[in-house]
Amino acid sequence: MTTSAPQAVRVRAPGKINVSLKVGPLRADGYHAVASVYLAVSLFEEVTASAAAQPGITVRVDAGGPLRIPADGIPLGPDNLVARAAAALAGHAGIQDPAVDLVITKHVPVAGGMGGGSADAAAALLACNELWGTGLSAADLALLGAGLGADVPFALAGGAAVGLGVGDELTPVAAAAPLHWVLVAADTGLSTPAVYRRLDALRTSSGAGTEEPETADPAVLAALTAGNAAALAGVIHNDLQPAALSLAPALDNVLQRGKELGALAGIVSGSGPTLAFLAADADAAARLQDALRAEGHNALAVYGPAAGAEPADPAAPADH
Ligand code: ATP
Repeated sequence: MTTSAPQAVRVRAPGKINVSLKVGPLRADGYHAVASVYLAVSLFEEVTASAAAQPGITVRVDAGGPLRIPADGIPLGPDNLVARAAAALAGHAGIQDPAVDLVITKHVPVAGGMGGGSADAAAALLACNELWGTGLSAADLALLGAGLGADVPFALAGGAAVGLGVGDELTPVAAAAPLHWVLVAADTGLSTPAVYRRLDALRTSSGAGTEEPETADPAVLAALTAGNAAALAGVIHNDLQPAALSLAPALDNVLQRGKELGALAGIVSGSGPTLAFLAADADAAARLQDALRAEGHNALAVYGPAAGAEPADPAAPADH
């Protein structure tokens, strides 16, 4: 009898924005504690895992997509997060010589503060789990994912969630209705560690004390739960924003412009440089996207919450 193992599995996983991000002081271990409110948005990475004839893990990246993402700066060897994810799963499951070809379809800006690499890792974990029939539970995959990056468990889960610790201790948030956003991608990325270093430097020079963030902002959670965009606009916040703007000052003008063109609010996503503008509804987001594009910005209307990592239906049209 032949086995029914699939020869190829395609999975998609969402990019994220942080609608609230509180960052604690630099800890002795080099990390910062955070209190983050994550929102998965409808801009998805796709990873296809195919059984390979020879042992080894290969990686290829197809770039492009609606934000015209270039593939520069993405390692294609064992450092790529999809290769690390496959190797971690193989190690966990006792697979000696994994043989898999991984193809990433990249839609989320690279080094953009939207957790694109983490989404790739999440998609690769789920795809290889299916390809190899390793049968790990969602909880096991999240544990394995946390070892690859703090944002990986959220890319697996999707939706909306509070993230504590380094962002990987997740509590789901039941968001009532989709919120509509316009993303603006930058031409070059920002290194997440460099943004955190700049934050530490800014805090040292201003003498500002910081406390360990223990809880997410209740006003943000209430607005998300109610699906109330106007209320959320008043409370979205990112502690990393001054550091990202200090490293990429041109973003400040774009933030102002988005608001002049009708955004309820604008924010740097995570460590930046992608910007996320909150719109009143889907029509307002479409109008804002078009107005920003008319001024030469790389803008895209999306909604969130979006689903976490899941098999991508080959018959379905790509959402983004
Ligand atoms: P963070 O999750 O820290 O906010 P980010 O969203 O700003 O990260 P990513 O695009 O996830 O940035 O990747 C950051 C770096 O990780 C890249 O510059 C690249 O060197 C490396 N990297 C490894 N694997 C991948 C991958 N599959 N896609 C993108 N970058 C990757």
